[in-house]
Amino acid sequence: MSYHRFPNLGQALQGDLTSKLIKNVRSEDYADLECNCNSTSKVNGSCAFGGECRKSMVVYKAECVDCGMCYLGNTQQKLKMRTRQHLGEVCKLVNTGKASDSFAKHFAIHQKQRTSKLTIGEARAKVKVSILWQGNPISCNKSFGKLNCSLCMKERVLILKHSRENPNVIINSNSEFYGACRHKSRFHRYATTTSFPVLMTDESPERVEYNHNSPRNTDTNNRTYVLEEQFAAMEINPLAHISEQREPHENIQVDV
Ligand SMILES: [Zn+2]
Ligand SMILES: [Zn+2]
Ligand SMILES: [Zn+2]
Repeated sequence: MSYHRFPNLGQALQGDLTSKLIKNVRSEDYADLECNCNSTSKVNGSCAFGGECRKSMVVYKAECVDCGMCYLGNTQQKLKMRTRQHLGEVCKLVNTGKASDSFAKHFAIHQKQRTSKLTIGEARAKVKVSILWQGNPISCNKSFGKLNCSLCMKERVLILKHSRENPNVIINSNSEFYGACRHKSRFHRYATTTSFPVLMTDESPERVEYNHNSPRNTDTNNRTYVLEEQFAAMEINPLAHISEQREPHENIQVDV
């Protein structure tokens, strides 16, 4: 049974319009990237996140290798970055005794007998992180900061589900469960998976199609790169009409 309903017709129509507008549109800044872990961040020679280290907008489970207890969290950042912040907190608590969150408090318990300083690498080997849910970055961004933030809501639902199935294995504290949304929506780059015309001026010799499926560079100027490559392939100089217009002006013959 579903309890989800739109409160009014306006919202229902808006929801329908939004879903049509974002169809085939994907976020470039929150796109899933391939694992790029180096030898120092790998655990036993392989990615500690099973190759999913650079996925964002996720609800994750961090399992304690020593006792099997779990921490459920959510992040809009890359999973690897969020985990590193957690491990940093564990090291800070173990090495300096500074107060920290429930994640660090739990993982520090197993380090009580230590005499040497805890390193990030050692802390990482004690945590098994996996993704439980991944949201659509565009719709997640839209709900950030609101009561129905989809990332926060999904995390709560999963914590409830886990604590019902296995009581006493959840590390999360109540204050985190009831806390307000701290996600920040920000502008991010989009790309579509369909092609559409972008240049249609009187000077254009023919319509130029922007092909999103062509191989592209991954730097910030990739749109320009693609267009330049396409102009070159079609032997078009995009600035040609400018020089054509300028020349007759410069060659004006003035009768004296
Ligand atoms: Zn990785
Ligand atoms: Zn533990
Ligand atoms: Zn949130």
